Amino acid sequence: MRELRMVDLATQYEAIKTEVDQAISDVISNTSFINGPAVKNFQKDLESYLEVEHVIPCANGTDALQIAMMALDLQPGDEVITASFTYVATAEVIALLKLKPVLVDVDPDTFMINVEQVKAAIGPKTKAIVPVHLFGQTAPMHSIMQIAKEHNLFVIEDTAQAIGSEYTFPDGTKMKSGTIGHIGATSFFPSKNLGCFGDGGALFTRDENLAKKIRMIANHGQSIQYYHDEIGVNSRLDSVQAAVLGIKLKNLNKYSSARQSAAEFYDRAFANIPEIQTPARVSNSTHVFHQYTLRLKGLNRDLLVTALKEKGLPVMVYYPVPLHQQKAYQQEGNYPVTEMLCKQVFSLPMHTELDQEQLNFITQTVVEAITQLRKKQ
Ligand SMILES: *Cc1c(COP(=O)(O)O)cnc(C)c1O
Repeated sequence: MRELRMVDLATQYEAIKTEVDQAISDVISNTSFINGPAVKNFQKDLESYLEVEHVIPCANGTDALQIAMMALDLQPGDEVITASFTYVATAEVIALLKLKPVLVDVDPDTFMINVEQVKAAIGPKTKAIVPVHLFGQTAPMHSIMQIAKEHNLFVIEDTAQAIGSEYTFPDGTKMKSGTIGHIGATSFFPSKNLGCFGDGGALFTRDENLAKKIRMIANHGQSIQYYHDEIGVNSRLDSVQAAVLGIKLKNLNKYSSARQSAAEFYDRAFANIPEIQTPARVSNSTHVFHQYTLRLKGLNRDLLVTALKEKGLPVMVYYPVPLHQQKAYQQEGNYPVTEMLCKQVFSLPMHTELDQEQLNFITQTVVEAITQLRKKQ
């Protein structure tokens, strides 16, 4: 059996090696390493793919979130609502800009920000909501946009895990995740669904003025060289990374399908295991399975994870500690669902290259380990 990994970038590279090597070599020979044609081309291709007016590439997903908040002129003390069950970057940039992260609990089945709790968390200082499209599905954007409109709030979508996911509004309109809010922020970290060979990120918006401002902030606050209208940052996507991304973007739909097929195989294999809850699908968004995350009920998750690793199966826990219990982000409040999920969830290998032999091994190993754990507990 081919070596099992959480993410198999080596096998994926083999399939596109000729094209990728050529694209990288083109950047090296034309030496336009920064802001070269590869960056512009990728930007245009991503705009068409997402059907969004403006894509602004930057250095990584964390920067994208930070630049989004800077572009919206959020001021120290302003409150930004986000989910308590997410990767740290979302809350980190809020705190870094001296804004106040207001964490709200998530839905136990979909892992998405709880809309009722978002409403309850809105106060006079609230300026923005940052929904996170966790693990590959789009959060309930219709409700979130409605709430934002009623309260005059900005919405920044963290779509680092859900690029390519498609959201359907009640009237049938479809939009890609990250293109619904005022700004979308994504990451091209190698293991993301659209990943490069280093760090990368981008912002999306439909608003031309916001796009100009984002571009300016990402480029030292200048729109004309050496004239600095704002305090900005230096956040660029390298041409080499853009060249790789351009090729991977052409394969993104195929990659999403491969992830979905693996997920469906997992679903079927675990359908009759009462202790396992397979990932819930929401009806209004496609799932692009950045992660395939299970909940383990009635058995000890940590014992299972140890047993699986001993049997040679790589598994990960996203995420073991709730944000509100992290030293840097301690927050009073009630987050029973997040606390429960941090004890119950574990993620299986999920990537574009899982073959039948690997899928059989993974599911058999999990079922076996659970049977053994049942006898022990
Ligand atoms: C990966 C990720 C980020 C940060 O992206 P980087 O490119 O690593 O900075 C932000 N939010 C979420 C939800 C992520 O998964």
